[in-house]
Amino acid sequence: MASPQPSSANRSSLKDHNIIIYSADFLSLCLLLSLLSTVVYAHAFSGVEERKGVKSDLFPEILRDEAVTQLIELGKVSDADGYLERTFWSPASVRAGNIIRIWMEDSGLITWVDQMGNVHGRVEGMNASAKALLIGSHLDTVIDAGIFDGSLGLISALSALKVLNITGRLGKLSRPVEVIAFSDEEGVRFQSTFLGSAAIAGILPVSALQIRDKSGVTVQDVLKENSVDITEENFFQLKYDPESVWGYVEVHIEQGPILESVGLPLGVVKGIAGQTRLKVTVRGSQGHAGTVPMSMRQDPMAAAAELIVLLESLCKHPENFLSYDGHCNGFAVESLAGSLVCTVGEISSWPSASNVIPGQVTFTVDIRAMDDMGREAIIYELSNRMYQICDRRSVSCNIERKHDANAVACDTGLSLQLKSAAYTAMKRMAGVVLDDVPVLMSGAGHDAMALSHLTKVGMLFVRCRGGISHSPAEHVLDDDVWAAGLAMLSFLETHL
Ligand SMILES: [Zn+2]
Repeated sequence: MASPQPSSANRSSLKDHNIIIYSADFLSLCLLLSLLSTVVYAHAFSGVEERKGVKSDLFPEILRDEAVTQLIELGKVSDADGYLERTFWSPASVRAGNIIRIWMEDSGLITWVDQMGNVHGRVEGMNASAKALLIGSHLDTVIDAGIFDGSLGLISALSALKVLNITGRLGKLSRPVEVIAFSDEEGVRFQSTFLGSAAIAGILPVSALQIRDKSGVTVQDVLKENSVDITEENFFQLKYDPESVWGYVEVHIEQGPILESVGLPLGVVKGIAGQTRLKVTVRGSQGHAGTVPMSMRQDPMAAAAELIVLLESLCKHPENFLSYDGHCNGFAVESLAGSLVCTVGEISSWPSASNVIPGQVTFTVDIRAMDDMGREAIIYELSNRMYQICDRRSVSCNIERKHDANAVACDTGLSLQLKSAAYTAMKRMAGVVLDDVPVLMSGAGHDAMALSHLTKVGMLFVRCRGGISHSPAEHVLDDDVWAAGLAMLSFLETHL
Protein backbone atom coordinates (compact mmCIF):
# COMPACT_ATOMS: atom_id res chain seq x y z
CA MET A 1 0.00 0.00 0.00
CA ALA A 2 0.94 3.61 -0.29
CA SER A 3 2.90 5.09 2.55
CA PRO A 4 0.73 7.01 5.03
CA GLN A 5 2.17 10.39 4.12
CA PRO A 6 3.49 10.58 0.57
CA SER A 7 5.26 13.72 -0.55
CA SER A 8 3.15 16.49 -2.03
CA ALA A 9 4.98 15.92 -5.32
CA ASN A 10 3.42 12.53 -5.86
CA ARG A 11 0.18 13.05 -3.99
CA SER A 12 -1.97 14.13 -6.93
CA SER A 13 -0.67 11.46 -9.25
CA LEU A 14 -1.31 8.75 -6.71
CA LYS A 15 -4.83 10.00 -6.24
CA ASP A 16 -5.34 9.93 -9.99
CA HIS A 17 -4.60 6.24 -9.94
CA ASN A 18 -7.06 5.59 -7.16
CA ILE A 19 -4.48 4.41 -4.68
CA ILE A 20 -5.64 5.13 -1.16
CA ILE A 21 -3.38 7.73 0.35
CA TYR A 22 -3.52 10.03 3.29
CA SER A 23 -1.93 13.42 3.33
CA ALA A 24 -1.09 14.90 6.72
CA ASP A 25 -4.27 17.00 6.99
CA PHE A 26 -6.49 14.33 5.47
CA LEU A 27 -4.99 11.82 7.89
CA SER A 28 -6.10 13.92 10.84
CA LEU A 29 -9.62 14.05 9.43
CA CYS A 30 -9.55 10.29 8.88
CA LEU A 31 -8.39 9.66 12.41
CA LEU A 32 -11.21 11.83 13.75
CA LEU A 33 -13.77 10.06 11.56
CA SER A 34 -12.23 6.78 12.57
CA LEU A 35 -12.66 7.55 16.25
CA LEU A 36 -16.23 8.75 15.69
CA SER A 37 -17.20 5.75 13.57
CA THR A 38 -15.55 3.37 16.01
CA VAL A 39 -17.52 4.93 18.85
CA VAL A 40 -20.76 4.89 16.82
CA TYR A 41 -20.07 1.34 15.70
CA ALA A 42 -19.21 0.09 19.17
CA HIS A 43 -22.19 1.86 20.72
CA ALA A 44 -24.59 0.72 18.04
CA PHE A 45 -23.19 -2.79 18.21
CA SER A 46 -23.77 -3.03 21.96
CA GLY A 47 -27.36 -2.18 21.09
CA VAL A 48 -27.49 -5.21 18.81
CA GLU A 49 -26.52 -7.47 21.69
CA GLU A 50 -29.41 -6.09 23.70
CA ARG A 51 -32.02 -6.27 20.94
CA LYS A 52 -32.69 -9.99 21.12
CA GLY A 53 -35.12 -10.01 18.19
CA VAL A 54 -32.67 -8.32 15.86
CA LYS A 55 -29.80 -10.44 17.12
CA SER A 56 -31.37 -13.72 16.02
CA ASP A 57 -31.76 -12.33 12.48
CA LEU A 58 -28.04 -11.81 12.35
CA PHE A 59 -27.18 -15.43 13.17
CA PRO A 60 -24.34 -14.69 15.60
CA GLU A 61 -24.25 -18.37 16.72
CA ILE A 62 -23.24 -19.45 13.22
CA LEU A 63 -21.61 -16.41 11.62
CA ARG A 64 -19.58 -15.43 14.71
CA ASP A 65 -19.40 -18.06 17.47
CA GLU A 66 -19.16 -21.19 15.33
CA ALA A 67 -17.01 -19.48 12.69
CA VAL A 68 -14.49 -18.33 15.33
CA THR A 69 -14.44 -21.82 16.88
CA GLN A 70 -13.74 -23.31 13.44
CA LEU A 71 -10.95 -20.81 12.74
CA ILE A 72 -9.28 -21.76 16.02
CA GLU A 73 -9.73 -25.48 15.31
CA LEU A 74 -8.29 -25.19 11.81
CA GLY A 75 -5.44 -23.10 13.19
CA LYS A 76 -4.37 -26.08 15.30
CA VAL A 77 -3.95 -28.33 12.25
CA SER A 78 -0.22 -28.01 11.65
CA ASP A 79 2.77 -29.97 10.40
CA ALA A 80 4.93 -28.32 13.06
CA ASP A 81 4.95 -28.51 16.83
CA GLY A 82 4.26 -25.20 18.50
CA TYR A 83 3.49 -23.12 15.40
CA LEU A 84 1.22 -23.22 12.36
CA GLU A 85 2.57 -24.58 9.10
CA ARG A 86 0.61 -26.25 6.30
CA THR A 87 2.21 -26.59 2.89
CA PHE A 88 1.08 -28.13 -0.41
CA TRP A 89 -0.44 -31.54 0.29
CA SER A 90 1.45 -32.04 3.55
CA PRO A 91 -0.07 -34.39 6.17
CA ALA A 92 -1.60 -31.42 8.01
CA SER A 93 -3.01 -30.05 4.74
CA VAL A 94 -4.74 -33.38 4.12
CA ARG A 95 -6.18 -33.32 7.64
CA ALA A 96 -7.30 -29.70 7.21
CA GLY A 97 -8.90 -30.60 3.86
CA ASN A 98 -10.87 -33.41 5.51
CA ILE A 99 -12.11 -31.01 8.20
CA ILE A 100 -13.14 -28.42 5.61
CA ARG A 101 -15.02 -31.14 3.69
CA ILE A 102 -17.02 -31.98 6.82
CA TRP A 103 -17.86 -28.31 7.35
CA MET A 104 -18.78 -27.94 3.67
CA GLU A 105 -21.17 -30.89 3.97
CA ASP A 106 -22.56 -29.40 7.17
CA SER A 107 -23.38 -26.31 5.09
CA GLY A 108 -25.32 -28.47 2.63
CA LEU A 109 -22.66 -28.76 -0.09
CA ILE A 110 -21.63 -31.77 -2.19
CA THR A 111 -17.84 -32.17 -1.83
CA TRP A 112 -14.84 -33.60 -3.64
CA VAL A 113 -11.05 -33.17 -3.81
CA ASP A 114 -9.42 -32.61 -7.21
CA GLN A 115 -6.05 -33.85 -8.45
CA MET A 116 -4.17 -30.78 -7.22
CA GLY A 117 -5.55 -31.16 -3.70
CA ASN A 118 -8.15 -28.39 -3.97
CA VAL A 119 -11.22 -29.15 -1.85
CA HIS A 120 -14.55 -28.28 -3.51
CA GLY A 121 -18.05 -27.91 -2.06
CA ARG A 122 -20.95 -27.13 -4.38
CA VAL A 123 -24.67 -26.55 -4.33
CA GLU A 124 -26.52 -26.50 -7.64
CA GLY A 125 -29.43 -24.26 -6.60
CA MET A 126 -32.49 -23.82 -8.84
CA ASN A 127 -30.65 -23.99 -12.14
CA ALA A 128 -27.72 -26.39 -12.33
CA SER A 129 -26.88 -25.31 -15.87
CA ALA A 130 -26.52 -21.62 -14.93
CA LYS A 131 -23.04 -20.14 -14.65
CA ALA A 132 -21.58 -20.84 -11.20
CA LEU A 133 -20.46 -18.37 -8.58
CA LEU A 134 -17.09 -19.49 -7.23
CA ILE A 135 -16.01 -18.43 -3.74
CA GLY A 136 -12.60 -19.38 -2.45
CA SER A 137 -9.41 -18.86 -0.55
CA HIS A 138 -6.43 -20.97 0.40
CA LEU A 139 -5.94 -23.76 2.89
CA ASP A 140 -2.13 -23.67 2.96
CA THR A 141 -0.16 -21.32 5.22
CA VAL A 142 3.25 -19.73 5.54
CA ILE A 143 5.65 -20.99 8.21
CA ASP A 144 4.68 -19.79 11.70
CA ALA A 145 1.43 -18.45 10.29
CA GLY A 146 -1.64 -16.78 11.74
CA ILE A 147 -4.97 -18.62 11.80
CA PHE A 148 -7.00 -16.19 9.67
CA ASP A 149 -4.99 -15.89 6.44
CA GLY A 150 -6.89 -17.99 3.89
CA SER A 151 -9.09 -19.78 6.41
CA LEU A 152 -11.29 -16.73 7.08
CA GLY A 153 -12.33 -16.59 3.40
CA LEU A 154 -13.40 -20.22 3.46
CA ILE A 155 -15.17 -20.16 6.80
CA SER A 156 -17.03 -16.88 6.20
CA ALA A 157 -18.43 -18.37 2.97
CA LEU A 158 -19.32 -21.69 4.59
CA SER A 159 -21.00 -20.02 7.57
CA ALA A 160 -23.10 -17.84 5.24
CA LEU A 161 -24.12 -20.89 3.18
CA LYS A 162 -24.98 -22.72 6.40
CA VAL A 163 -27.38 -19.92 7.30
CA LEU A 164 -29.03 -20.28 3.89
CA ASN A 165 -29.19 -24.03 4.45
CA ILE A 166 -30.86 -23.94 7.86
CA THR A 167 -33.28 -21.23 6.72
CA GLY A 168 -34.32 -23.40 3.75
CA ARG A 169 -32.95 -21.06 1.10
CA LEU A 170 -29.86 -22.94 -0.08
CA GLY A 171 -31.77 -24.80 -2.80
CA LYS A 172 -33.34 -21.54 -3.96
CA LEU A 173 -30.09 -20.00 -5.19
CA SER A 174 -30.53 -18.86 -8.79
CA ARG A 175 -27.15 -20.29 -9.81
CA PRO A 176 -24.72 -22.95 -8.58
CA VAL A 177 -22.40 -21.78 -5.82
CA GLU A 178 -19.08 -23.52 -5.31
CA VAL A 179 -16.63 -22.94 -2.48
CA ILE A 180 -13.04 -23.95 -3.25
CA ALA A 181 -10.28 -24.37 -0.64
CA PHE A 182 -7.14 -23.95 -2.73
CA SER A 183 -4.20 -26.22 -1.95
CA ASP A 184 -1.34 -23.81 -2.56
CA GLU A 185 -1.36 -20.04 -2.55
CA GLU A 186 1.63 -19.18 -0.39
CA GLY A 187 4.11 -21.20 -2.47
CA VAL A 188 6.20 -22.11 0.58
CA ARG A 189 7.13 -25.65 -0.42
CA PHE A 190 7.72 -25.28 -4.18
CA GLN A 191 8.40 -21.54 -4.42
CA SER A 192 5.62 -21.38 -7.01
CA THR A 193 2.43 -19.71 -5.84
CA PHE A 194 -1.13 -20.60 -6.90
CA LEU A 195 -0.53 -24.27 -7.75
CA GLY A 196 -4.16 -24.94 -6.79
CA SER A 197 -6.01 -21.93 -8.21
CA ALA A 198 -3.81 -21.63 -11.32
CA ALA A 199 -4.67 -25.22 -12.28
CA ILE A 200 -8.38 -24.41 -12.09
CA ALA A 201 -7.89 -21.15 -13.99
CA GLY A 202 -5.97 -23.07 -16.67
CA ILE A 203 -2.79 -20.99 -16.39
CA LEU A 204 -0.57 -23.54 -14.64
CA PRO A 205 1.93 -25.01 -17.13
CA VAL A 206 2.25 -28.78 -17.09
CA SER A 207 5.95 -28.24 -16.36
CA ALA A 208 4.87 -27.19 -12.85
CA LEU A 209 4.52 -30.90 -12.06
CA GLN A 210 8.32 -31.18 -12.25
CA ILE A 211 9.10 -28.33 -9.82
CA ARG A 212 11.19 -29.64 -6.93
CA ASP A 213 11.09 -28.69 -3.26
CA LYS A 214 14.26 -28.25 -1.20
CA SER A 215 14.60 -32.00 -0.67
CA GLY A 216 14.33 -32.73 -4.40
CA VAL A 217 10.76 -34.05 -4.34
CA THR A 218 8.65 -32.94 -7.33
CA VAL A 219 5.02 -31.82 -7.32
CA GLN A 220 4.23 -35.00 -9.24
CA ASP A 221 6.00 -37.10 -6.56
CA VAL A 222 3.82 -35.49 -3.90
CA LEU A 223 0.70 -36.26 -5.89
CA LYS A 224 1.80 -39.89 -6.31
CA GLU A 225 2.45 -40.16 -2.56
CA ASN A 226 -1.19 -39.17 -2.15
CA SER A 227 -2.39 -41.76 -4.66
CA VAL A 228 -2.98 -39.22 -7.40
CA ASP A 229 -1.63 -40.36 -10.74
CA ILE A 230 -1.72 -37.19 -12.79
CA THR A 231 -0.75 -37.25 -16.44
CA GLU A 232 -0.34 -34.43 -18.94
CA GLU A 233 -3.72 -35.38 -20.40
CA ASN A 234 -5.79 -35.28 -17.22
CA PHE A 235 -3.79 -32.31 -15.87
CA PHE A 236 -5.58 -30.00 -18.31
CA GLN A 237 -8.96 -31.37 -17.27
CA LEU A 238 -8.54 -29.49 -14.00
CA LYS A 239 -9.21 -26.25 -15.90
CA TYR A 240 -12.74 -24.88 -15.58
CA ASP A 241 -14.66 -23.87 -18.70
CA PRO A 242 -14.98 -20.06 -18.57
CA GLU A 243 -18.49 -20.46 -19.97
CA SER A 244 -19.50 -22.40 -16.86
CA VAL A 245 -18.40 -19.71 -14.40
CA TRP A 246 -20.20 -16.46 -13.51
CA GLY A 247 -17.54 -14.90 -11.29
CA TYR A 248 -15.17 -15.42 -8.38
CA VAL A 249 -15.35 -13.84 -4.94
CA GLU A 250 -12.77 -13.98 -2.16
CA VAL A 251 -12.90 -12.71 1.40
CA HIS A 252 -9.48 -12.21 2.98
CA ILE A 253 -7.89 -10.42 5.90
CA GLU A 254 -6.53 -7.06 4.81
CA GLN A 255 -2.94 -7.79 5.91
CA GLY A 256 -2.51 -4.02 6.15
CA PRO A 257 -3.50 -1.20 8.50
CA ILE A 258 -6.03 0.88 6.52
CA LEU A 259 -9.33 -0.60 7.80
CA GLU A 260 -8.11 -0.39 11.38
CA SER A 261 -7.12 3.23 10.82
CA VAL A 262 -10.59 4.16 9.56
CA GLY A 263 -12.34 2.06 12.21
CA LEU A 264 -14.39 -0.18 9.94
CA PRO A 265 -14.44 -3.98 9.72
CA LEU A 266 -14.83 -4.39 5.95
CA GLY A 267 -13.48 -2.88 2.76
CA VAL A 268 -13.83 -3.68 -0.92
CA VAL A 269 -10.74 -4.35 -3.03
CA LYS A 270 -10.19 -2.40 -6.21
CA GLY A 271 -7.16 -4.33 -7.45
CA ILE A 272 -4.18 -6.49 -6.58
CA ALA A 273 -0.54 -5.47 -7.10
CA GLY A 274 1.58 -7.34 -9.61
CA GLN A 275 4.60 -9.20 -8.28
CA THR A 276 7.88 -10.76 -9.31
CA ARG A 277 10.10 -13.14 -7.36
CA LEU A 278 13.77 -13.38 -8.23
CA LYS A 279 16.48 -15.73 -7.05
CA VAL A 280 19.92 -14.14 -7.02
CA THR A 281 23.01 -16.34 -6.82
CA VAL A 282 26.38 -14.70 -6.17
CA ARG A 283 29.52 -16.81 -6.58
CA GLY A 284 32.94 -15.78 -5.32
CA SER A 285 36.11 -17.40 -4.09
CA GLN A 286 35.77 -19.63 -1.03
CA GLY A 287 38.63 -19.29 1.40
CA HIS A 288 40.04 -19.26 4.91
CA ALA A 289 38.69 -16.41 7.06
CA GLY A 290 42.05 -16.01 8.74
CA THR A 291 44.51 -16.19 5.87
CA VAL A 292 43.08 -14.46 2.79
CA PRO A 293 43.94 -10.71 2.88
CA MET A 294 41.00 -8.35 2.49
CA SER A 295 42.42 -6.92 -0.74
CA MET A 296 42.50 -10.37 -2.34
CA ARG A 297 38.98 -11.53 -1.51
CA GLN A 298 36.12 -12.19 -3.89
CA ASP A 299 33.53 -12.33 -1.14
CA PRO A 300 29.96 -13.09 -2.33
CA MET A 301 28.52 -12.27 1.11
CA ALA A 302 29.80 -8.68 1.06
CA ALA A 303 28.62 -8.39 -2.56
CA ALA A 304 25.17 -9.71 -1.61
CA ALA A 305 25.00 -7.11 1.18
CA GLU A 306 25.68 -4.33 -1.34
CA LEU A 307 23.09 -5.75 -3.75
CA ILE A 308 20.46 -5.84 -1.01
CA VAL A 309 21.14 -2.25 0.01
CA LEU A 310 20.91 -1.28 -3.68
CA LEU A 311 17.47 -2.94 -3.84
CA GLU A 312 16.29 -0.98 -0.83
CA SER A 313 17.52 2.34 -2.24
CA LEU A 314 15.98 1.65 -5.64
CA CYS A 315 12.60 0.75 -4.20
CA LYS A 316 12.54 3.61 -1.68
CA HIS A 317 13.39 6.22 -4.31
CA PRO A 318 12.75 4.83 -7.80
CA GLU A 319 12.70 8.39 -9.13
CA ASN A 320 16.44 8.64 -8.41
CA PHE A 321 17.21 5.61 -10.53
CA LEU A 322 14.74 5.50 -13.42
CA SER A 323 15.12 7.91 -16.31
CA TYR A 324 12.10 9.42 -18.02
CA ASP A 325 13.51 9.05 -21.52
CA GLY A 326 14.70 5.45 -21.38
CA HIS A 327 12.70 2.31 -20.80
CA CYS A 328 10.45 3.91 -18.22
CA ASN A 329 8.11 6.87 -18.46
CA GLY A 330 6.90 9.44 -15.99
CA PHE A 331 3.65 7.61 -15.44
CA ALA A 332 5.45 4.50 -14.23
CA VAL A 333 7.77 6.41 -11.89
CA GLU A 334 4.88 8.32 -10.33
CA SER A 335 2.67 5.27 -9.87
CA LEU A 336 5.58 3.28 -8.42
CA ALA A 337 6.26 5.91 -5.80
CA GLY A 338 3.09 4.94 -3.95
CA SER A 339 2.94 1.19 -4.29
CA LEU A 340 6.40 -0.26 -4.94
CA VAL A 341 7.67 -2.58 -2.19
CA CYS A 342 10.74 -4.81 -2.36
CA THR A 343 11.92 -7.47 0.08
CA VAL A 344 14.77 -9.89 0.60
CA GLY A 345 13.24 -12.53 2.86
CA GLU A 346 15.54 -15.48 2.45
CA ILE A 347 19.31 -15.72 2.26
CA SER A 348 21.68 -18.67 2.45
CA SER A 349 25.42 -19.13 2.07
CA TRP A 350 27.75 -22.01 1.30
CA PRO A 351 29.41 -23.52 3.25
CA SER A 352 27.92 -21.29 5.96
CA ALA A 353 30.69 -21.52 8.56
CA SER A 354 31.96 -18.72 10.76
CA ASN A 355 35.60 -19.20 9.76
CA VAL A 356 35.07 -19.52 6.00
CA ILE A 357 34.70 -16.80 3.37
CA PRO A 358 31.62 -18.16 1.55
CA GLY A 359 31.89 -19.54 -1.95
CA GLN A 360 28.28 -18.81 -2.79
CA VAL A 361 25.42 -16.73 -1.47
CA THR A 362 21.82 -17.05 -2.65
CA PHE A 363 18.96 -14.74 -1.79
CA THR A 364 15.39 -14.09 -2.90
CA VAL A 365 13.93 -10.78 -4.08
CA ASP A 366 10.20 -10.02 -3.93
CA ILE A 367 9.06 -6.97 -5.91
CA ARG A 368 5.47 -5.72 -5.97
CA ALA A 369 3.79 -2.74 -7.60
CA MET A 370 0.41 -1.69 -8.95
CA ASP A 371 1.94 -0.67 -12.25
CA ASP A 372 3.24 -3.57 -14.37
CA MET A 373 5.38 -1.41 -16.65
CA GLY A 374 6.95 0.26 -13.66
CA ARG A 375 7.72 -3.11 -12.08
CA GLU A 376 9.44 -4.23 -15.28
CA ALA A 377 11.45 -1.03 -15.31
CA ILE A 378 12.58 -1.68 -11.75
CA ILE A 379 13.66 -5.23 -12.56
CA TYR A 380 15.57 -4.03 -15.62
CA GLU A 381 17.35 -1.31 -13.65
CA LEU A 382 18.00 -3.58 -10.68
CA SER A 383 19.50 -6.31 -12.87
CA ASN A 384 21.81 -3.90 -14.71
CA ARG A 385 23.10 -2.33 -11.52
CA MET A 386 23.49 -5.70 -9.79
CA TYR A 387 25.65 -7.01 -12.63
CA GLN A 388 27.76 -3.83 -12.46
CA ILE A 389 28.34 -4.30 -8.72
CA CYS A 390 29.26 -7.96 -9.21
CA ASP A 391 31.72 -7.04 -11.99
CA ARG A 392 33.34 -4.41 -9.79
CA ARG A 393 33.69 -6.93 -6.96
CA SER A 394 34.94 -9.71 -9.25
CA VAL A 395 32.16 -12.10 -8.29
CA SER A 396 29.61 -13.67 -10.63
CA CYS A 397 25.88 -12.95 -10.43
CA ASN A 398 22.99 -14.98 -11.74
CA ILE A 399 19.47 -13.55 -11.55
CA GLU A 400 16.56 -15.94 -12.17
CA ARG A 401 12.91 -14.96 -12.44
CA LYS A 402 11.01 -17.52 -10.40
CA HIS A 403 7.50 -16.06 -10.42
CA ASP A 404 5.60 -13.30 -12.20
CA ALA A 405 2.03 -12.13 -11.80
CA ASN A 406 0.61 -9.01 -13.40
CA ALA A 407 -1.53 -6.59 -11.42
CA VAL A 408 -5.22 -7.47 -11.43
CA ALA A 409 -8.18 -5.09 -11.50
CA CYS A 410 -11.29 -6.32 -9.71
CA ASP A 411 -14.54 -6.26 -11.71
CA THR A 412 -16.42 -2.99 -11.23
CA GLY A 413 -19.89 -4.53 -11.11
CA LEU A 414 -18.92 -7.33 -8.76
CA SER A 415 -17.07 -4.86 -6.52
CA LEU A 416 -20.20 -2.70 -6.32
CA GLN A 417 -22.24 -5.74 -5.26
CA LEU A 418 -19.67 -6.66 -2.63
CA LYS A 419 -19.53 -3.07 -1.44
CA SER A 420 -23.28 -3.04 -1.07
CA ALA A 421 -23.18 -6.38 0.78
CA ALA A 422 -20.48 -5.08 3.14
CA TYR A 423 -22.47 -1.91 3.75
CA THR A 424 -25.63 -3.89 4.45
CA ALA A 425 -23.77 -6.14 6.88
CA MET A 426 -22.21 -3.26 8.80
CA LYS A 427 -25.52 -1.39 8.86
CA ARG A 428 -27.42 -4.44 10.11
CA MET A 429 -24.88 -4.98 12.88
CA ALA A 430 -24.57 -1.35 13.90
CA GLY A 431 -28.22 -0.43 13.40
CA VAL A 432 -27.27 2.96 11.99
CA VAL A 433 -26.07 4.33 8.67
CA LEU A 434 -22.29 4.30 8.59
CA ASP A 435 -19.56 5.81 6.49
CA ASP A 436 -19.12 4.51 2.99
CA VAL A 437 -17.26 1.22 2.65
CA PRO A 438 -13.54 1.90 2.05
CA VAL A 439 -12.03 0.94 -1.31
CA LEU A 440 -8.53 -0.52 -1.01
CA MET A 441 -5.75 -1.84 -3.17
CA SER A 442 -4.07 -5.11 -2.22
CA GLY A 443 -0.30 -5.30 -2.01
CA ALA A 444 -0.54 -9.02 -1.25
CA GLY A 445 -1.22 -11.62 -3.90
CA HIS A 446 -4.35 -13.74 -3.66
CA ASP A 447 -5.96 -16.67 -5.45
CA ALA A 448 -8.18 -14.05 -7.12
CA MET A 449 -5.13 -13.15 -9.25
CA ALA A 450 -5.09 -16.63 -10.77
CA LEU A 451 -8.89 -16.79 -11.07
CA SER A 452 -8.91 -13.45 -12.94
CA HIS A 453 -7.62 -15.44 -15.94
CA LEU A 454 -10.82 -17.49 -15.84
CA THR A 455 -13.55 -15.07 -14.83
CA LYS A 456 -14.36 -11.67 -13.30
CA VAL A 457 -13.16 -11.37 -9.71
CA GLY A 458 -14.11 -9.37 -6.63
CA MET A 459 -12.68 -9.27 -3.12
CA LEU A 460 -13.65 -8.13 0.35
CA PHE A 461 -11.04 -7.29 2.95
CA VAL A 462 -11.56 -7.79 6.68
CA ARG A 463 -9.83 -5.66 9.32
CA CYS A 464 -6.97 -7.34 11.16
CA ARG A 465 -5.25 -6.05 14.26
CA GLY A 466 -2.30 -3.80 13.53
CA GLY A 467 -2.40 -4.90 9.90
CA ILE A 468 -0.27 -7.86 11.02
CA SER A 469 -0.32 -11.07 8.99
CA HIS A 470 1.97 -14.04 8.25
CA SER A 471 2.56 -14.11 12.00
CA PRO A 472 0.99 -15.85 15.00
CA ALA A 473 0.09 -12.33 16.16
CA GLU A 474 -2.43 -12.11 13.29
CA HIS A 475 -5.84 -11.37 14.81
CA VAL A 476 -9.38 -10.61 13.68
CA LEU A 477 -12.04 -9.53 16.18
CA ASP A 478 -14.86 -12.03 16.68
CA ASP A 479 -17.34 -9.37 15.59
CA ASP A 480 -15.35 -8.74 12.41
CA VAL A 481 -15.54 -12.47 11.60
CA TRP A 482 -19.28 -12.03 12.07
CA ALA A 483 -19.32 -8.97 9.77
CA ALA A 484 -17.50 -10.96 7.08
CA GLY A 485 -19.99 -13.82 7.29
CA LEU A 486 -22.92 -11.44 7.29
CA ALA A 487 -21.53 -9.64 4.21
CA MET A 488 -21.20 -12.98 2.41
CA LEU A 489 -24.77 -13.81 3.43
CA SER A 490 -26.00 -10.47 2.04
CA PHE A 491 -24.04 -11.06 -1.16
CA LEU A 492 -25.41 -14.60 -1.56
CA GLU A 493 -28.95 -13.33 -0.94
CA THR A 494 -28.60 -11.26 -4.13
CA HIS A 495 -28.34 -14.61 -5.97
CA LEU A 496 -31.56 -16.02 -4.52
ZN1 LIG B 1 -3.74 -15.41 2.12
